[in-house]
Amino acid sequence: MFFLLGGCSAQPTAIEKKAENGRLDLKSFNLENEIIPLDGDWAFYWNQLLEPADIDQGTLSGYVSFPSSWNKYEIDSQKIPGSGYATYQLTFTASENQILALKIPKVRTAYKLFVNGNLVATAGTLGTTREAMVPQYLPQVIAFEALSGDNEMVLQMANFYMSSGGLLNSILLGGETQLLALRYNGLAYELFLCGALMMMGVYHLALFLFRKKDRAPLYFGLFCILVAIRTLLIGESFLYFAWPDLDFVISRKIQTLTYYLGVPLILMFSRAILPNYFHPRFIKIVLIIGIAYATVVIFAPTYIYTAINPLYQIWSLFLIVYLFAMLLKVAHHRENNSGLIILGGLALIATAFMDIITLSPWINDSWPTLLRTIFQGDANSSTGQLLFATLYSLLLAKTFTESLEHRTVMAEKLTEMNDHLDELVAKRTGELTAANHKVEQQNFELELINHELQRLSLRDPLTELWNRRKYDETIGLEWKHCLRQQRPISLLFIDVDYFKNYNDLYGHVAGDATLIKIGNTLRTALSRPTDMVVRYGGEEFIVLLAETGKEKAILNANRLLKKIEALAIPHEESQVNNCVTISIGVATLLPSLDCGPEELVKLADKALYQAKSEGRNQVVYRDE
Ligand code: GH3
Ligand code: MG
Ligand code: MG
Repeated sequence: MFFLLGGCSAQPTAIEKKAENGRLDLKSFNLENEIIPLDGDWAFYWNQLLEPADIDQGTLSGYVSFPSSWNKYEIDSQKIPGSGYATYQLTFTASENQILALKIPKVRTAYKLFVNGNLVATAGTLGTTREAMVPQYLPQVIAFEALSGDNEMVLQMANFYMSSGGLLNSILLGGETQLLALRYNGLAYELFLCGALMMMGVYHLALFLFRKKDRAPLYFGLFCILVAIRTLLIGESFLYFAWPDLDFVISRKIQTLTYYLGVPLILMFSRAILPNYFHPRFIKIVLIIGIAYATVVIFAPTYIYTAINPLYQIWSLFLIVYLFAMLLKVAHHRENNSGLIILGGLALIATAFMDIITLSPWINDSWPTLLRTIFQGDANSSTGQLLFATLYSLLLAKTFTESLEHRTVMAEKLTEMNDHLDELVAKRTGELTAANHKVEQQNFELELINHELQRLSLRDPLTELWNRRKYDETIGLEWKHCLRQQRPISLLFIDVDYFKNYNDLYGHVAGDATLIKIGNTLRTALSRPTDMVVRYGGEEFIVLLAETGKEKAILNANRLLKKIEALAIPHEESQVNNCVTISIGVATLLPSLDCGPEELVKLADKALYQAKSEGRNQVVYRDE
């Protein structure tokens, strides 16, 4: 689209006809309807400013290729410098008297143009020293009266402000309408480019102002604005058109600044959108060099920075190659949006390359015409930069929208979650309460089980009396207690008489039932909670009577003996009675430090043995 806008205007006629030895025969052309570049070999007078009338007295330095910077010419095998002054001369022949026009590009850096002895165009003030001359860029279209036959053009130039003198673009000859159309179309196109780039720049700066976290729009916006400003200074140079008296030095400085600062901006932007591809230290170096050059441009005179400029151009060429390599890498890695990145990147690289070639004295006359047209048309570079800016605006808009979309989706999810929060909390609380309740229930059950287990571990399963373990535990405690209180402990050792025989008689089941009955009787017969009935093993029981003396113990023993006898459980095999009886050994001790609770059992056992041997079914007391 932009190429079309740029390309639809009048175009120079593509003629192969070139001036030879300062003469160009154009008699065969209807010049009023054509646009003809006055290219070819012009007569050249170095270090001479010759008026048309004095041209014959000048010393011809030779015929030189036109247009070109004069630094490329050699006089006597000697390259001529950029600074100096010269006169060019060309005679073209026309077929009739007519009003024609010339389109004169930028000339480095002041000139006077005579046609047939009349001064027709001028820019700046000519001079033979830097002090004497005043530089000015003033591309313009001028009309003049062409004669049938020879028309002599004399072009005086002086340059003490640019590193190279002369002119880079063709002087065009043709009808005034055609040439003005060419110029105004160019100006309009460049204004359009400038406006479009300016809008993009301002838009992206605004984007950055409202969201400072992302630096990409900042660098991109600044770059767009730099290119927009640059657009007004190159090509038809609207700025010189609008303000012909624009200070040459300042405007040149601005143009150079756009270049020196554009380079770091592009690299910082590249890093902002592709952080993994550019080392921050490298970007810093690019920035420092850019700022250093910019500082030189601002403070140093023109000739100093035009002298160091080629170094920056080499540096830029290196960076272009580097960017190109990164684009290849992006393509290889198939990054997100790599299509846009690569297309835009290529546009930028191509135009930057063009810019460097155009502005450098390297462009060669021996280049094919097509290449020269591409590279010398410096407006093309702005077109390329607009293409780059458009594609990358698209890229930024796309990534911006994508992140916005992502945020919207996240926000929706959040709202949804918030809406269901009460519900969720209630549900979770319910679940927790139920779980707590269950745990409580389980704890309670566990406690019961524990309790039961503890009970079981200390009880005899058959009679549910205390077992031997509980006895061992308790006797230890009671012994200590009575030791402290100095109170006696008594122990009754009880054994069922002839129980083996009883089992033979009635069977084990009946024997068990009898043991249960005896156990219950013993327990219920004892009144104090501190009296403890223990199944010590088989058909043997122990009754522990804490804080009980001998008399009371013997009394209790006899009472128990009678109680069991009173149960009247039949026992035909018993040799002492016809029912089940027991024998009891009684012992009483006052606990002291020189004996332990086992003494008590030993003593009671002895007493029991005695009771057995003395006829069973009786109580025997022993104290030794
Ligand atoms: P004595 O005749 O003087 O009592 O002497 P002793 O205690 O040594 O012998 P006894 O005839 O009383 O026999 C003890 C028997 O008691 C051994 C076993 O057959 C029986 N017995 C021990 N424990 C149990 C039990 O838990 N259930 C039943 N049914 N019988 C038991
Ligand atoms: Mg026994
Ligand atoms: Mg027995």
